[in-house]
Amino acid sequence: MGEMIAHVGRWVLPVSSLPIEEGAVLVAGGRIKAVGPASEVLRGFKGEVRQHGTGAILPGLVNCHTHLEFSALAGRVPPQERWEDWLWLTLTATSKLTPQEKNEGIRRGLQALRDTGVALVGDISNTGESLPFLEASPLDYQLFYECLGFDLLDLSRLEEAFPFFTTSQVNENRNISAAAHAPYSVSPALFKAVKRWNKARKRPQCLHLAESAVEVKFLTRGDDFFKKLLQARGRWVPGFSPPGLSPAAYLHSLKFLGPDTLAVHGTQLQAADCALLARTGAWVILCPRANVYTGAGTPPLPELMQAGVPLALGTDSLAGNHDLNLFGEMLWLYKKYRRHYPEGRWLRLGTLQGAQALKREKDFGSLEPGKKAALGFIPLSRERRFWEELYANGAAGAWQWLN
Ligand SMILES: [Zn+2]
Repeated sequence: MGEMIAHVGRWVLPVSSLPIEEGAVLVAGGRIKAVGPASEVLRGFKGEVRQHGTGAILPGLVNCHTHLEFSALAGRVPPQERWEDWLWLTLTATSKLTPQEKNEGIRRGLQALRDTGVALVGDISNTGESLPFLEASPLDYQLFYECLGFDLLDLSRLEEAFPFFTTSQVNENRNISAAAHAPYSVSPALFKAVKRWNKARKRPQCLHLAESAVEVKFLTRGDDFFKKLLQARGRWVPGFSPPGLSPAAYLHSLKFLGPDTLAVHGTQLQAADCALLARTGAWVILCPRANVYTGAGTPPLPELMQAGVPLALGTDSLAGNHDLNLFGEMLWLYKKYRRHYPEGRWLRLGTLQGAQALKREKDFGSLEPGKKAALGFIPLSRERRFWEELYANGAAGAWQWLN
């Protein structure tokens, strides 16, 4: 059971319910036991009371989209105006990394996530290299093993092309999923094999969807950029003809989308795509700072909100963002939409909704009895606007874990 500890702060943000002034969170044995006004929670309480003072107690964050394997590229790929340029630079820089550099990057990336308040991360891996690091870290994770194969036209089972999926560890570890990279790098057969594998194990899946204008062009009427890229990598399919559909409509035609699916970026989604995604229950994972960094554009937030698409947040990788601090994404959204949406909405996207997207809301995403005691504290003054200061202080690295 463990010793009972009460964390008391000027504000407690359960996320699943309204902020509490002069609140307290009771924890024991790594779980939350009670949340409420300190005057109620502490009545008759005999255990240790930790007063954290002026600031907010809040749940650990959920970053739904990183590529820890690219962390070693930090500072090596500058922001670009054209997404295509960013992709070429990233592919070139990645090919020059040594295994030691990659491993050191994964270690540093994980530490950066931890230091900025992330309790649960959805990490994309092309190789499985980040898995031992994730297993050894205090963070919880969902590892998305990313499959590419534009030319895998006849694949029926993932195991035929990806030995990673033949191990018993992968079958037994529910924190491992299969992922499809993107519509321009995955064949219809591979999309179907990824879906089948995840569905049989009830695991979430993800893909990069509608990230760039050139992706939309490639699927609707064909484009030389991806043709050349695929030819250079020996993956081009001679005679390929574009499906003539938007990325979302194309994935829907392959029956890939559903509540189990995290569609990452969505920068180029149109209103009709948003309506389609909402009908399927698919999640869109917003990485707005990363989209600006890579030259992809900005996600159509009003259309997504209007359609009722479930949303969560990610930072993407250090090849395509300034840092892995999810508060940076919240602050960006807060500043852009401060007059349009409730100011606390962005914390919800970075906590509870992320946990729901990754199907881990039983343990993460809010301060509620029974959930894991993954909580932290951000000091605040009383002078500035509450939410602005919370996001800004979080983005400046003020997070403190409460153990
Ligand atoms: Zn990504």
